[in-house]
Amino acid sequence: MVIKNAQYEKDPRPVEEDCGCYTCRNFSRAYLRHLFMAGEMLAPRLNTMHNLFYYTRLMHEMREAIGQGRFEEFRKRFHADRSEPDAIAAL
Ligand SMILES: [Zn+2]
Repeated sequence: MVIKNAQYEKDPRPVEEDCGCYTCRNFSRAYLRHLFMAGEMLAPRLNTMHNLFYYTRLMHEMREAIGQGRFEEFRKRFHADRSEPDAIAAL
């Protein structure tokens, strides 16, 4: 996700709909875009909070899949989910 894109100017949704991080629970894409465009330091701080939460959760899910012997299934699901047009990549 490139938060500075105009498509997020009035987007009330969080960065990632099912994310439980502080940023996604409290701020919209529109507000994060506003902060970014205004050069506010809060923008990279909130984005970093989401990104760290995302990667921590991803690593946890990977470890679980490996431990349960279903990493290949996890890998295929991961790539399938991210090939969708609205998939979240990175801020
Ligand atoms: Zn988040």
